[in-house]
This record gives sequence, C-alpha cells and structure tokens, in this order.
Amino acid sequence: MVNSQIKARGIQDPFTIAAMRTVPRHKFVPKNLMVDAYLDSPLPIGYGQTISQPYIVAFMTEIIKPKKDFKVLEIGTGSGYQAAVLAHIVDKVYTVEIIEALYIQSKKRLNDLNYDNIFVKNADGYHGWKEKGPFDAIVVTAAAEFVPPPLIKQLKDGGKMIIPVGKPFATQQLLLIEKKEGKIKTKNLMFVRFVPFTRAKE
Ligand code: SAH
Repeated sequence: MVNSQIKARGIQDPFTIAAMRTVPRHKFVPKNLMVDAYLDSPLPIGYGQTISQPYIVAFMTEIIKPKKDFKVLEIGTGSGYQAAVLAHIVDKVYTVEIIEALYIQSKKRLNDLNYDNIFVKNADGYHGWKEKGPFDAIVVTAAAEFVPPPLIKQLKDGGKMIIPVGKPFATQQLLLIEKKEGKIKTKNLMFVRFVPFTRAKE
C-alpha cells in the first residue's frame, strides 16, 4: 500500500510514511471488508460514512507538516484511522464525531489498540473543541459548505487547517488554510469527494 499508493504519488514526509506503515488499517474497517482494507479506495464503515482512501489520509497528514509537539484537532473521527495515523507522529490528537454509534465504536477501537494520546468526543464538530484549543493543526474529514468560523478561531497563529469545502455529494475543493499574524491564507489543493459535514439540531 505505502509503496504503490503513497510514495509513488509523491508523499515524502518520513513520519507520515512510517505512520502509514504502522497503523493496522484492517482493524479500522468492518470485519467483512478486512480483505479490502489495503485497497486504493475509501470503504464503507456503516451509518452512511466511509474511511478515507489511504492516499488521502497520507496527503492530509503530510500537508499539515506534523511535528512531535503538535496538538491536532480532527473533525470527523469515523473509524478513527486518520486519528491513529496522526497519533503516531504528534503529541496529542483531539477528535470529534457527530454520530454516537461511530464515536462509541472508534473510542473502543482506539482504546483496544492502546492509543492513549487520542481523545474522542461525541459532538457537532462545527464548534471545534474550545477547551482543548488552540491547535497547531486542524484536519477536517467531512465536506463543509463553508469553513466553520469556530475552527479558524481555534487554530494557533502559524497553524494549518486542511478541509474539503463544497456542496455535499459533489466534488469539493480540498483547502489548505494558514493563519499568520492573524491573517488567513487559503490555497486550493485538489478536487476530492468526502461525505457531508452534518450539523446537530440546535
Ligand atoms: N477520518 C475518518 C473519516 C470519516 S468520514 C476516518 O479516518 O475513518 C467523516 C466523518 O465525519 C463521519 O464519521 C461523519 O459522521 C463525521 N461528521 C460529519 N459531520 C460532522 C460534524 N459536524 N462533526 C463531527 N463529525 C462529523
């Protein structure tokens, strides 16, 4: 998987590559799909959600330039796979999942796999995780129609956010957002297709 899907497509960060080699992806997919776990595609994880394609996980990891002392916020825990990849590189990963059943599953899975630097919360990630911020980086793995302002607020100065933005069920733009001296810089990276960013009823 790592050689043909990740390195061949230009991922170079040694920490990202090592993490992708280490995390047992087959333990993050439903049992009946275990044989497909290392294929070059997203896979269904129930509740209409998906575990992202390995390359996309690696891409989103590398782009935030993860460092050992980073505190990272992820929105959209899903299977917990992206959180696990990040957790091999950075100090702490805070991850928020809106679907309770997926939250319960991934919390147990990450606990069983001894990821003691990942903290999972069941909530609408639109609001981020204010008490734990600000964050060195924010990784959003569901497609939002716009960048949630609370997430921008919770990004450290000098921090990076990666987020797919666009209409649900269409292709979206993967955006890299950087905060520097209070200013926001946005770069379009590529077209992607993520499951929708949903909102809790308020
Ligand atoms: N990072 C995941 C991919 C999950 S797919 C992985 O590695 O497996 C996107 C996830 O975002 C879904 O589980 C979906 O329920 C969740 N999601 C969608 N909108 C959300 C919101 N507002 N807050 C938190 N999670 C959300």
